[in-house]
Amino acid sequence: MNKGRHRRRAALALLVIGLPFLVLLGLTLVLTRQERDLARTQALEDRQRRVEMLGRRLRDRLDAVRLQVAAGLAPGPELVFVGPTEQNSFAAPWENRFVTPLSPSARSAIEAGRRLELMEDRAADAVRRYARALDLAKQPGDEAHARLLLGRSLLKTGRENEALGEYEKLAATPPAIWDDQGIPFALYGAERLVALGGSQASALDALRSVLVHPDPLAPSALYLIRAIATDLVKSSDPQLSSRVQEILSSTASLLRQANQLLELKREIARILPRAPDGSPPDSWASFGDPLWLVASGQARQGEAVFAVSADALEQEIRRQDPALGNFELTSGWEPGSEALGAALPGLRVKLGPSPAAPESGRLVASHWFLAASLAAVLAATVAAAWLLWRDVRREVRVTELRAQFVSSVSHELRTPLSAIRMYAESLRMGRPREPEARDEYLDTIINESERLSRLLENVLEFSKIERGERTYRMEPTDLSAVLRSAARALEYALQQRAFRLEVDLEDAMPPVRADADAIEQAVLNLLTNAMKYSGDSRHIELGLEQRNGHAVIRVRDQGIGIDPAEHQRIFEKYYRSPSAARTTGAGLGLSIVTHIAKAHGGAVTVESQPGKGSTFSLALPMEQR
Ligand code: ADP
Repeated sequence: MNKGRHRRRAALALLVIGLPFLVLLGLTLVLTRQERDLARTQALEDRQRRVEMLGRRLRDRLDAVRLQVAAGLAPGPELVFVGPTEQNSFAAPWENRFVTPLSPSARSAIEAGRRLELMEDRAADAVRRYARALDLAKQPGDEAHARLLLGRSLLKTGRENEALGEYEKLAATPPAIWDDQGIPFALYGAERLVALGGSQASALDALRSVLVHPDPLAPSALYLIRAIATDLVKSSDPQLSSRVQEILSSTASLLRQANQLLELKREIARILPRAPDGSPPDSWASFGDPLWLVASGQARQGEAVFAVSADALEQEIRRQDPALGNFELTSGWEPGSEALGAALPGLRVKLGPSPAAPESGRLVASHWFLAASLAAVLAATVAAAWLLWRDVRREVRVTELRAQFVSSVSHELRTPLSAIRMYAESLRMGRPREPEARDEYLDTIINESERLSRLLENVLEFSKIERGERTYRMEPTDLSAVLRSAARALEYALQQRAFRLEVDLEDAMPPVRADADAIEQAVLNLLTNAMKYSGDSRHIELGLEQRNGHAVIRVRDQGIGIDPAEHQRIFEKYYRSPSAARTTGAGLGLSIVTHIAKAHGGAVTVESQPGKGSTFSLALPMEQR
């Protein structure tokens, strides 16, 4: 088989292994992509579902608010405002607030007082009139009114302390008693107290009671509170300052709300456009910052506009349905936001991560699993390809060696045969005449024919081994006798080439179960190698000893030695070292020795360095199984 064909076979084998792997890789990639697409679709669907759910929840909640307002029930915390509408306008809650008119008796006393105080400049008389009005007061509004004026006229007459007393009482007026400007009288009291250096604590109490009252305050009242509180910050003692700050911040947020309401009032026709028949829209419009949802609908007293705080709604829904995860309502388009449907135009939601997100974790895990499986398949493929490649390479090498073997054997056969023939013909022709020379010719003929028969024996032995027909007859064997017989067989050849064979056999070696002929052949192979590769050296040792439960046969020469890189390969069939090129041989000797050693459950090893000789050890176990 030539090299090219082997290459083709190797390529084919690689293809057979590589192709399925590539197909597998392709399939995996397709599968992974599909899975990712699926996960993406699922995530999209999940988003869609959450958006729908959220839309539904919001509508439910807003419907509930509508119903509560219509039924006149106490609304939830999300309702910022509800105001009756007429066509496209509505009144802010502080507008058109009904202020109880002064009772007639108090009114006439107050008007008389005013005339005296303002037109006739008789403050002392005015004081009396106002005090009279106070006596005549029938309702809190009368009283607060009279007190405010009484304080002012007392101040004008220089009775500051009495005035402060009145203002303090005025500051304690209930918060829902206001003048026709929508400003609670208590605030006037507080303002005067702060301006005249009266009790700051009473002023603060007044501000607080006004602020916590549920009726919404007019912006003018809120500005007044802010002004009083700002004055208090400047002058108050540190103990009160944290309370003042609280008041300032809640005033600020109420002012924002009041202003947003005024803005809504201006914009209402645009935000909730009516149908041509004048009916209000069904939907909820989004408006302002902070975001409100605004709608018109039925309240107890008739049609009304109501505004709901998106912030409060968000919190409420999140509390009720934690599975919806985090979200934020916005008006107008923002990246990543989604519309919430026709019933909530302009309202969008930005979703936070889904609370049911382990999906992506599972995907990552399955990717890892796929990657690991692919890596395992790839590793197996590469390993298989490598093993295959190695086998093919080995076969290519054996093929090359076998070709070399045929030529070596032919050469090996031809050399002794031609020598034998040449010497035999010479002898037949009666040459040489001298008996010594004739003996020498005969010796050569014998020597060459022995070499020939050893070679043939090796070839035959080898072909038996190759066919698997070599059998061994194991018997208790005296190895010393076997080694001596081998030495004897080579005696002539050794002597011819002036070799000195030193035999060192351990006495009292118990018999070992072995095939005597096979062992002798192995030893002969080792000894002939020692002769062949001795170079200029003429000393060979043959030893036998017991070591670690083994009988070890040792053949040592002091010849050319072997490169350590070749120590393994020399035992392969047909292998011949390049350094042995000038020596005859077929590359069979050591592979036969190896086979025999293995058949005996033993092994053959070499220790050698180039130029320092070689020692071959054939170890046979003493205890045969
Ligand atoms: P052959 O001797 O016919 O070439 P072998 O199988 O007996 O085949 O030996 C294989 C190779 O091992 C030889 O070609 C030679 O290079 C190397 N070799 C074997 N024995 C020795 C030795 N005693 N000294 C040096 N080289 C050796």
